[in-house]
Amino acid sequence: MTDFTSLAAGRPYLAIPGPSVVPDAVLRAMHHPSSNIYEGELVDMVPGLVDDLKRVARTAHHAAIYICNGHGLWEASLSNVTQAGDRVLVASNGRFGAGWADTARALGLGVSVVDSGMAQPWDLARLRAELLADTAHEIKAVLAVHVDTSGSIRNDVPVLRALLDEVGHPALLMVDCIASMGCETFEMDAWGVDVSITASQKGLMMPPGLGFVFFNDKAAARRSELERVSPYWDWRARSKPDVFYQYFCGTAPVQQLYGLRAALDMIHAEGIENVWNRHALLARAIWAAVEAWGQGGAMTLEVKDPAQRSHAVTALSLEAPDGTRLRKWCEEHLGLTLGIGLRATPWGHPEWDAHFRFGHMGHVSGQMILGLLGGVQAALTACDIAHGSGAVEAAAQVLAQKV
Ligand SMILES: *Cc1c(COP(=O)(O)O)cnc(C)c1O
Repeated sequence: MTDFTSLAAGRPYLAIPGPSVVPDAVLRAMHHPSSNIYEGELVDMVPGLVDDLKRVARTAHHAAIYICNGHGLWEASLSNVTQAGDRVLVASNGRFGAGWADTARALGLGVSVVDSGMAQPWDLARLRAELLADTAHEIKAVLAVHVDTSGSIRNDVPVLRALLDEVGHPALLMVDCIASMGCETFEMDAWGVDVSITASQKGLMMPPGLGFVFFNDKAAARRSELERVSPYWDWRARSKPDVFYQYFCGTAPVQQLYGLRAALDMIHAEGIENVWNRHALLARAIWAAVEAWGQGGAMTLEVKDPAQRSHAVTALSLEAPDGTRLRKWCEEHLGLTLGIGLRATPWGHPEWDAHFRFGHMGHVSGQMILGLLGGVQAALTACDIAHGSGAVEAAAQVLAQKV
């Protein structure tokens, strides 16, 4: 391969499941001198930003903005509705469910995890049994990840709401939408979600660094019952500031807020339902291609049931070590970076090199997805990895809306 001409010059394409591609309009908007943080343009802009964020989350209730990543949001959300010694129940089917559970444990909470296995649908029977057994209502919250980015399963949030209602359990329903908000249909209020969280660097098309917590009055009431909440995480002043300074518990992230304004303008100009539909169609094109490749080789989608597959991220496997070989070839020769696999096996385990992921969240168009799939086609050929034919054609048929 030493004499292979590299085709990696040109605009690179980072197709990992976060951080995602940042639009030029967002980058330009962030190229902004620091503003007065006490009065003027920036101060006037933020209330509208909060309203437009709530439109993305489909909630009429409250929002708090943090300078943090997703791990910060796990802690921010729990800190406002639980205190050490409380119990929470976690519906887990991947690394991110497990991660939120770890954060809860570290905060001194009693954590029960119903783990249905990587990329397997939630075990509703076991969740039901846990809730029914809790006759004293010690469980204060049920933690659920909408799209678990590790195995790329999309979970059925309304079913979990229905379960809580059916057994009459008052626990808050808290949902991690970090991989899904701005990509997948999500209706916070209509689905009866009490707290939802998302970060800037995935569907919202921003650099990492901003975190958003949405909460309703039931969650706000729980906050009021707590004696002490870490001052930085406390959502009360952030969501109802007397002075601008309180929105961010300190200096506002000036440039990020200008970027967020541009990103939200793009989302609302397209229309949130159109954004969801675009992601759904692009995902179907990807699945069609992978199914064609799988006809003549080992490539498979981790989530078998299309109804449970994310529209924002796709986890795949080949035979080890071909997943890693494919990834490296795409990056080196085409300037196309695919995501590493995130499986239960530890880093360095030979199995690890079987898995990889495509990120297709946020600022992603049809031509980008066809480029990604064409790139994978070239890599399979160059690396002599067995595969079926007609994959890119199958994807094109989906995008042409012929299938
Ligand atoms: C990316 C992600 C996280 C973690 O976000 P960080 O910003 O890396 O801390 C948490 N949950 C889900 C579902 C994610 O996709």
